[in-house]
Amino acid sequence: MELDYAIVYSPKRKRLTITVERDRSIVVKAPTGTSIDKIQEVVESCKLWLYEKTHHEQKYHPPLHPPGKELVNGESLPYLGRNYQLELSDSSNEIQFINNHFLVPKAQAKQRGDIFKNWYIQQAKEQILPRVKVNAKRMGVEFNLAKITDSKYRWGSCTPKNNVIFNWRLIKTPMFVIDYVIVHELAHLLESNHTSIFWNIVAVQVPNYQLAKKWLREHGNVLEEDF
Ligand SMILES: [Zn+2]
Repeated sequence: MELDYAIVYSPKRKRLTITVERDRSIVVKAPTGTSIDKIQEVVESCKLWLYEKTHHEQKYHPPLHPPGKELVNGESLPYLGRNYQLELSDSSNEIQFINNHFLVPKAQAKQRGDIFKNWYIQQAKEQILPRVKVNAKRMGVEFNLAKITDSKYRWGSCTPKNNVIFNWRLIKTPMFVIDYVIVHELAHLLESNHTSIFWNIVAVQVPNYQLAKKWLREHGNVLEEDF
């Protein structure tokens, strides 16, 4: 399978990265002087991932909340697969999640995008990264680095150095979906293609992974919303 991609060289860049833009075009960003052979090699190693990203069927879902609007009392926001109401509060000075609802400082209601995004990213770091470690240990997989990023990729990400990268928006999905995505990405370190071997590895760790895939198919849009 042939993949078309654009190459952008930059003298400041230290590593080669591949991104899939929203229009599904592929851009390789490389340090100035990187050879075409090297670029082809990396594109080749990420081929399957790129194929998934560029061919995934994406329906357009309007965002739940138009950006730039204030947070209002009683509206609900997703977290770990459920929607929870929020309450504006005079007393707290940071977002808190207690008794199944969000307490949001009234003074910050105008910055709705930023404050919730930061809160989600923090939760993603605290809750997803430790589970990557636990699952890797269980699977006997070694990874270099696990990171939470702000890309709009659907979930994980492929890098040539055994890094596993997760979209912070995953924290809006149920824990069994998070576990599936973690195991899926880690399984790629053992088997890069979606072969039956690959799915066996996944199934041993997450026996109900089909449910997780179904959940993601039906709710994929939550991964594209900004907060
Ligand atoms: Zn995959």
